[in-house]
Amino acid sequence: PELRELLLDRIHDVPDYPKPGVMFKDITPLLADAKAFGALTDALVELCERYGADKVVGLEARGFILAAPVAVRAGLGFVPVRKAGKLPGATLAQAYDLEYGTAEIEIHADALSSGDRVLVIDDVLATGGTAEASLRLIRRAGAEVAGVAVLMELGFLDGRQRLAGALEGAPLEAL
Ligand code: IMP
Repeated sequence: PELRELLLDRIHDVPDYPKPGVMFKDITPLLADAKAFGALTDALVELCERYGADKVVGLEARGFILAAPVAVRAGLGFVPVRKAGKLPGATLAQAYDLEYGTAEIEIHADALSSGDRVLVIDDVLATGGTAEASLRLIRRAGAEVAGVAVLMELGFLDGRQRLAGALEGAPLEAL
């Protein structure tokens, strides 16, 4: 409850961004606050330990910012899942549906190996499309999903429900 208050206090609502009708959750005040960012990092490190993760995957772009310090503090490797066209090596790609249109994300084909247990980290779970596609990529890369951790979940978008099948029983934690 204390962590939750600390984090909530430093996530700002920005109305009509990036388009009218959308309430954007801005995490930059949280990142700028050493105490809040440190507490968030500690909580995510603890999830790595609880879920027995041995790799941390961050989702572009804010997921990178949250996941990298977690990987370092937990003593685990960091692997990026990027928007299509950004990774230089051979990749696996996964398309997914957006509200309007489709998007595609990629992972380096050799970034994970069988037996790896991955904790996926992102800032916001909205519709769940991005997280769902990332779980497919991780499994296609031969690894196992230890869990998904997000800073916040926009409950009214039912992302948890969309993600349920892809989780295959792995935990989804929204801090
Ligand atoms: P989803 O695929 O609909 O779940 O959207 C999740 C992705 O969109 C995440 O990678 C988030 O970073 C981003 N996103 C969606 N809504 C917000 C928001 O309000 N603030 C920051 N990022 C958001």
